Parts: sequence; structure tokens; C-alpha cells
Amino acid sequence: MRTAQIRTRGGALSGSRPCVLIVEDTRTFTTVLAHRFETELAVDVVTCHTLHDMKRLLSSEHGRFMLAVIDLNLEDSPNGEVLDYSLDADLPTIVFTASFDFHVRECILKKNVVDYVLKDNCRAIDSIVNAVRRVLQNRNIRVLVAEGFDPAESEAVQLLQAQQFLVTHAQSLEEAVDRFDKYRDIELVIVDDALPGGGGVELIKQIRRSSSADDMRIIGFSTRDNPLTCASFLKAGASDFLYHPFVQEEFQCRVAQSIDTLARFKKLQAIASRDFLTDTYNRRYFFERGPVLVQHCLARQEPCCAVVLDIDHFKKFNDTYGHETGDLVLKTVARKLRQMIDGDMHLIARLGGEEFAILLRNMDVREATEYCDLLREEIARTHIVFEDEELSVNVSIGVAVISAEETFDNYLHAADQYLYMAKNSGRNRVFSDYSITQLFAERQKAS
Ligand code: GH3
Ligand code: MG
Ligand code: MG
Repeated sequence: MRTAQIRTRGGALSGSRPCVLIVEDTRTFTTVLAHRFETELAVDVVTCHTLHDMKRLLSSEHGRFMLAVIDLNLEDSPNGEVLDYSLDADLPTIVFTASFDFHVRECILKKNVVDYVLKDNCRAIDSIVNAVRRVLQNRNIRVLVAEGFDPAESEAVQLLQAQQFLVTHAQSLEEAVDRFDKYRDIELVIVDDALPGGGGVELIKQIRRSSSADDMRIIGFSTRDNPLTCASFLKAGASDFLYHPFVQEEFQCRVAQSIDTLARFKKLQAIASRDFLTDTYNRRYFFERGPVLVQHCLARQEPCCAVVLDIDHFKKFNDTYGHETGDLVLKTVARKLRQMIDGDMHLIARLGGEEFAILLRNMDVREATEYCDLLREEIARTHIVFEDEELSVNVSIGVAVISAEETFDNYLHAADQYLYMAKNSGRNRVFSDYSITQLFAERQKAS
């Protein structure tokens, strides 16, 4: 009897990361795959080389594995028995095989595997790594299937679930609209031409009123063999179109392309909206997102304030300690702001140079002034080490309340005016309508 050859990899981080099981009899292939999974996908990997070993592993550690990557033909599994075993154990499975023909394809696809990869070319390893990467990503991506079919009989649902997507189903236009209210994280919609209650094209028109192709991808499908259906879907705003019944590989590739396109858009948006030195949002994003947040506050009659913060005598600081140390200060101030301000609630951006803007939501002018004073004190307390010397900077802050609908520029301009007053009154202070009133009251009391 052969001794089981089971290797657990991943070291100290084991347990916190998803775990992938590789079942493959070629050692070199196993080693390369395991190394690439661990380094490129941040997963733990367990490898074994026979069906016998796999059975032992699954009986002792069932539930540990998130995914199996298996070679269809092993010494003790000449006819792909290993696949049945993996699927019987409810393990999402990616198959790779050197022998492939129409019959093998039919057998594999009938079993609802995540994906199959042919071992017949030099890109095989890249393809497997990409297939696993997809599964890891798909587990966090929500897809809505809107169609006339019952979910239990839906081919789209089955295929998406096999690929580990979070799948939500709607059987009418009304239900689909309801799903959008319930799930704010839908990234892809698969929509049937014959969607009861209005049709797929109507649903697409409704979606596109609020979500562009950069926010949400839509793939239409139809059981009717009419080329004009595809045209009407694309015209209405669908990103892609398929005929039903689906060719599984085509369905899978189109879905993957849609998801990749969306991910690329998001990445580009993220890069375009960030300031590269401080990693806060940049001016462009502040002027794009700020007005939306202000509208939101005004509509709900929530108080909201525009804030401009500027480092004092920064030119002198640069001249004394050098531009690089100045950069370090900018990064430190930005980090402090991010630590102290809830970025999900409020909006922080670097306007340019040594000037930051903040939109504080749900705070009236008094609360915002007091909060900004805390920020000012905290920044003054923060030290930057330069050649064994502990340096610090002060900031001046202007706060303007946003109470009526005006141009976004006006709000910032008002905050800038208060900042100007703070600078003129000696710097290292917060100025606002509230602080000025307080100042007058104190002076009157004193006189
Ligand atoms: P005030 O207290 O009136 O604000 O004086 P200040 O010296 O801070 O203001 P001023 O506008 O005269 O100078 C701003 C300086 O900020 C000049 C510029 O060299 C520096 N600065 C702008 N962007 C950067 C940057 O990205 N890195 C560094 N290190 N310095 C920058
Ligand atoms: Mg300055
Ligand atoms: Mg300035």
C-alpha cells in the first residue's frame, strides 16, 4: 500500500486564509501551482497526489477547503473518479486534464464544475491560477438574474452558483426593482428578454437611469432566435448579449469579461480620484462627490459644514528642513486626518499644496468648530522625526456652515474666508461664524 503523501503549506498564516486543495500526480506541476497560488493569491495550499490521499484528507479535514483543483486522470482514478468524489464532498472544483475530447467535455460540464483547463499548452498554469483567482473574487460579487424561469430550473443561476457568485433571483420586473432596493452591491445583471411584467429591455432602461456601464454591467439573453432582439438590448444599455440555451464556456467567458471590465473601471476611478502623495481623495473627486453629499444633507435637512485646513508657514518649513521632510509632513497630516475622521461619513481631500478640504456631515457649526479644534490640537501634538529632531507643524482652519442651496464653490469660498481670518489673527486656530460670536462675547465680558 502506498504511503499518503500529503503536504500542508502556508506556515504561520494558516487558518486565516482560504485553503485550496491540489490533487495532481506530476510533482513539478504541483510545486509550481502551489507556489503561485500561495504567492499570487494569498491562499493556503494542501497538496496530494492520489484519489486515495484525497479521500483520507477529506474524511479528516472536511470543511477546511474552499476549492479543489484536480487532475482528472490519476493513477488510481483513470476515468475521472476523483471529480465525482470532489463534487460528492460539495467542494467547488476546477478540473485540468491532458486528454480532452467532446465526450470528456460533456462529462465535465454536466457535473457543474467551476471551470476546466486543458493541460496541453504553456499557458495552462496561468489559466489555472486565473481560474482560482476568479473564484476567490466571485465569492464577493453579487449578480442578479432576472428571468421568467424558476430559480431551481434556471441555467444562469446554476452556472453562476457553480462559479461561486452571490446570486440573487427575480422572476418579474417588479421583483427585480425590489432586489435593487434590497441589495446595493449588485454588480452584474443577467436579464431575460421575456422577463414577466414588462420585458428585459424595459428593466435595462430603468437601471440605466441611475447606473451607468461604469457602475453596473448588464448581459441580456433571449430564447428567441431574432437578431434584432440583441440590437434592442444593446441600444437600451446592455453591455453584452447571449442566446439561450447557453454554451457554458461562452456564458462563463462573457460573465468574466463583464466582471473584469467593471473591475478595471473601478481601479481607474480609484486611481483618478486619489492624491498620490497623501493617498487622500484629490480636488477633482472632492468637487465631484462633495455636491452629491451636500444635496443629500440639504434634502434631509441634516446640518453640514465645509472646512478648509492649511498648514502654517509651510514654505518656511520646506526652506528649513527640505522638500522631502515637507512631503513627510503632508503625509503625516493626511494620515492623522484619516485616523480622526470617519471617511465613510465625511469627505476628506487634499485640495492642493498644503491645503486640505473636509466636508463634515451631520454636524452644526458649533460641533464642527469644536471638532476642528480637536483636529488642530492633535496635529500640533504629532511629531515628525528629522535627524534626531522632533518637528511639528500647526494648522489654521476655516469652517463654513452649509444651510442653503448654493454653488459648491461658494461653500468652499466661505470656508476660505474664515481660514483667511484665522491666518490673519495669528494662525494655529479655527475660525467660523460660531468662533467669531464666541470671541465677541468673551471680549464684551472682559470690557
Ligand atoms: P501660511 O501660513 O500663510 O499658509 O504660509 P505658507 O508658507 O504655509 O503658505 P504659502 O502658500 O506661502 O506656501 C506654501 C508652500 O507649500 C509653498 C510650497 O513650496 C509648499 N508645497 C506645496 N506643495 C507641496 C508638496 O507637495 N510638497 C512639499 N514639500 N511642499 C509643498
Ligand atoms: Mg500654509
Ligand atoms: Mg496654502
